[in-house]
Amino acid sequence: MAENSSNFIHDFIDEDLAAGKVEKIHTRFPPEPNGYLHIGHCKALIIDFGTAKKYGGLCNLRMDDTNPAKEDTEYVEAIQEDIRWLGFDWGDRFFYGSDYFERTYELAEELIKKGDAYVCELTPEEFKANRGDLTHPAVSPYRDRPIEESLDLFRRMRAGEFPEGKYTLRAKIDLASGNFNMRDPALYRIRYIEHHRQGTKWCIFPMYDFAHPIQDALEGITHSLCSLEYEDHRPLYNWVIEHCDVPSTPRQIEFARLNITNTVLSKRYLRYLVENNIVDGWDDPRMPTLCGLRRRGYTAASVLDFIDRIGVAKSNSMVNIGLLEYCIREELNQTALRRIAVLKPIKVVIDNYPEDRTEWFDVANNPNDPEAGTRQVPFTREVYIDADDFAEVPPPKFFRLKPGGEVRLMSGYIIKCGEIIKNEDGSIKEIHATADLETGTGVPTDRKVKGTIHWVSAKHAIDTDIVVYDRLFTRENMNDLPEGTSYIDFLNPESAVKVENAKVEPALADAKPGDKFQFVRIGYFAKDTKNENTFNRIVSLKDSYKPE
Ligand code: ATP
Ligand code: MG
Repeated sequence: MAENSSNFIHDFIDEDLAAGKVEKIHTRFPPEPNGYLHIGHCKALIIDFGTAKKYGGLCNLRMDDTNPAKEDTEYVEAIQEDIRWLGFDWGDRFFYGSDYFERTYELAEELIKKGDAYVCELTPEEFKANRGDLTHPAVSPYRDRPIEESLDLFRRMRAGEFPEGKYTLRAKIDLASGNFNMRDPALYRIRYIEHHRQGTKWCIFPMYDFAHPIQDALEGITHSLCSLEYEDHRPLYNWVIEHCDVPSTPRQIEFARLNITNTVLSKRYLRYLVENNIVDGWDDPRMPTLCGLRRRGYTAASVLDFIDRIGVAKSNSMVNIGLLEYCIREELNQTALRRIAVLKPIKVVIDNYPEDRTEWFDVANNPNDPEAGTRQVPFTREVYIDADDFAEVPPPKFFRLKPGGEVRLMSGYIIKCGEIIKNEDGSIKEIHATADLETGTGVPTDRKVKGTIHWVSAKHAIDTDIVVYDRLFTRENMNDLPEGTSYIDFLNPESAVKVENAKVEPALADAKPGDKFQFVRIGYFAKDTKNENTFNRIVSLKDSYKPE
């Protein structure tokens, strides 16, 4: 988020500042460490950290590990790495929700003592069956259990005397509320499961709606920013703050979740893809995770630009993935060094060029950036061109190489197509050509040909693997699937097309993992950080998508 930009959250904060309700803005980002961060979380964390930054405030990083299932230190470290990559810093304010378990428990006892909570004995099924509906209030036969009895049962719940599901602690609020979250919601439940940090110390765990406001208040958070699905929980959030003896009064503000076309933003779905080897890990370059985008070749700046462009609104919407691609394409168009790669090589032999000769053409590294300088590109008698740049039976308006036709070898000579030599199976073995030797680089010429194609010297070419990545799903709206289908049904079978033995120019010999280039006339590519000698396609050179 650009620091000077504004949105409705900032308007609320400005009001709170003007009214003297707060002095220093303090936000938090509370990821659940049960998976890697995806671009949806990224929106949330940019709002949290970006808002604090704009107001000269602080943002805490808090692992929301209240729910003991499926949490792992692998995720904790990955989350930290991703946030740092985006350029944000939580200083020494790194916390775990589970560190507040003891205090949260004490506050629950206080609620019981004040008659604001009670131990309920409905089974989970009975609980559901007794929730009532819009015209009927919920029913809880245990609501008027004497305080002493609830307190005793709650302590024994903690001591591990009862099986899971036997009792819950419930807030005593309003069984007839039009907001079902207020119909005496559960605050604690029994679970015999090991916690990744607390071990087996606890067998009762607070519900998110109880734990989260308490954690915010204990950390002195002034504005608790979260996605829209928590809007209906805000009355409960405020109830907890009002009824518990906590040191501050945070304000919850909700914003729209990010949805993007042709992908899924749900850890559960993403984990399934990883666990079933449908993708190559959380950092597969097709994944909408931050580590996946990074490995694909996205920069932090392009991701920040994307989040800035979509803005912060209150209503949910679907963002075209073309906008994300546009952001990296725009950046790399300015910054990426140009290099030559031939994905489907065909050999062209220039019969009138001496066999032992090598010319070095001086070619700009980036025509958009004169400071990027030039490099030397070798030219020899045998070059590779791309199979797509040749047509034996050319369609109309085909200005690349064709029988008898002329084409310019980019930055080099104009060549004329001669004999086409075939393999036994009918495929092309090599094409013979003659060059107009008056037309090389720097040679002024009024000879004009319509087509220009790229090439690499066969003698100098480096064999490389290239993976042409595309969108993970073929369907645009993955949030609204046709009945009877699953998101897996829409996986794009061509989302990762591996090209082996592509030919690239020798300047790429020095490329380091993570380096990004424009492969001229093809697209933007990044050297893979996992597989050796592999380049990943980040995005194509052009797309029909235009941002509004
Ligand atoms: P998922 O649905 O992928 O499992 P989650 O909400 O369970 O996501 P958390 O780790 O709890 O994941 O999320 C951390 C923060 O990120 C929360 O404050 C949540 O509101 C926010 N968040 C998650 N997904 C999105 C999204 N698509 N757009 C905006 N914010 C999101
Ligand atoms: Mg969550």
